[in-house]
Amino acid sequence: MEYKLTYNKYKEALLDGKFLGLKCNKCGAYTVPPKKVCMECTSEDLDIAEIRKKGEIKTFTVIKVSPEGFDAPYIVAMVELDEGPWVMGNIIDVDPYKADMELIGKKVVIGSKEVNGDKFSAGDGVALTFALED
Ligand SMILES: [Zn+2]
Repeated sequence: MEYKLTYNKYKEALLDGKFLGLKCNKCGAYTVPPKKVCMECTSEDLDIAEIRKKGEIKTFTVIKVSPEGFDAPYIVAMVELDEGPWVMGNIIDVDPYKADMELIGKKVVIGSKEVNGDKFSAGDGVALTFALED
């Protein structure tokens, strides 16, 4: 079994401004971030697809005590992409101390930022960022 879209390719594309995922040729579902098989039907018949960078905030939490390498406070949110999958990232243009339930259901535009690896991770990575759309 091979990875159609490796994490490194996904990361490099994101930092280049391109949001890539996988589209299943069997059921049509999207898988983001990339995995070996379709998240819906486990088919391996996947093609790389460009994702639209739009979604809706479904839930969030405010981190006030952060792990090594991160500056608290910040907001971690789950966003449902227009294509269906839920992805995790940081809401970047809202004061974490003012974040409230009003954020749920808000539309966001998706971007990315590079994050430094720490002693627990496999090295530098990339995080999704969410900016409120208006
Ligand atoms: Zn599928």
